[in-house]
Amino acid sequence: MYLSAARLVTPAVEMQDTALCIQGARIAAVTPPHPPPDAHVVDASNFIVVPGFIDLQLNGGCGFDFTADPTTLWRVAQELPRYGVTAFLPTIITAPYETIRAAQAVLRAGAPENFRGATPLGLHLEGPFLNPAKRGAHNPAYMRLPTVNAAREWSRENYVRLVTLAPELKGAPQLIRALCEQNIVVSAGHSMATFDQARRGFDAGITYGTHLFNAMPQMDHRAPGLAIALLNDSRVTVGIIPDGIHVHPALVALALKQKAPQQLSVVTDAMAALGMAPGEYLLGDFRVTVNENSARLADGRLAGSILSMDQALRNMLAFTNCSLRDALATMTTTPARVLHLENERGEIAPGYFADLVLLTQDLRVAATMVAGQWAWHDRGVIAL
Ligand code: ZN
Repeated sequence: MYLSAARLVTPAVEMQDTALCIQGARIAAVTPPHPPPDAHVVDASNFIVVPGFIDLQLNGGCGFDFTADPTTLWRVAQELPRYGVTAFLPTIITAPYETIRAAQAVLRAGAPENFRGATPLGLHLEGPFLNPAKRGAHNPAYMRLPTVNAAREWSRENYVRLVTLAPELKGAPQLIRALCEQNIVVSAGHSMATFDQARRGFDAGITYGTHLFNAMPQMDHRAPGLAIALLNDSRVTVGIIPDGIHVHPALVALALKQKAPQQLSVVTDAMAALGMAPGEYLLGDFRVTVNENSARLADGRLAGSILSMDQALRNMLAFTNCSLRDALATMTTTPARVLHLENERGEIAPGYFADLVLLTQDLRVAATMVAGQWAWHDRGVIAL
């Protein structure tokens, strides 16, 4: 398939009047010579072609919560291309080990027949080794102290890709090292870590920080805690939720300036109400009340977001005044690099997966391609 585009924008390049050649699931060439006369050519000349978005933290959507029922994962994955998402980490919040095993089994079983949707790249386990003092919307009854044994069943091959833990907990450094040996990315979050405790976690192998500023000590200039440690250390990339509620837009801008787009990864942390009307939804064990812009427990604490990835892109531009290329980096190349997938995802280049989004000039999603197949399109905007 050939895709002719007026404008191609990726973190690395910006090109006018270009074309892509897609063969099977991958991009074969960018700006190929004229397509053969019998080629299938899609005219995308009204659109901006960008790499598909990668969300490292998603709890559910369309009314379904992955922790309450991991079998809903493929169902939600089918809906994500409408938001430009082509790959994601289904996130299991603090839960009994059986829930994690069930989620691993869902991924092991593979996609249902005729599945078309975003690619789950493995689980993000947000818990159970978290600090109850920063529990957020997690159930402290399931929280545990780190133990190397607990992680025996977890590896990249066993569908665990990223684990969020509190580095100050007893036994954390040993567990961090054990997880790194299993090719799992380890992240600091839901934590009371001091600056020094955080640094010791980075020394042990932590390379990511989960939702910067949320569920960590408030910034204190005399006692810098986890947030400042994350911002100051070039070994770690930070996730951030740019919905304008979890973090003030000014601090999103500050974080981008400090970390650069290469070390800031936009996540949605979206929950079951993504794409749904306001109402009552589940996050793990808890009922969450959702209005037009936030999801909260009965006591007012935030319980995930209802942010979509395409809205996050528009918010990044509005909050930080950065370029489209830099905003895209925070949701394409940067999350791909966090997962060590920078050679096959996050960019538009020969050999990469054909994971693409066609954006309208006002940055709405018109169509999304996953692994060379159209997974969603807005029929009012483009015919495919
Ligand atoms: Zn969280």
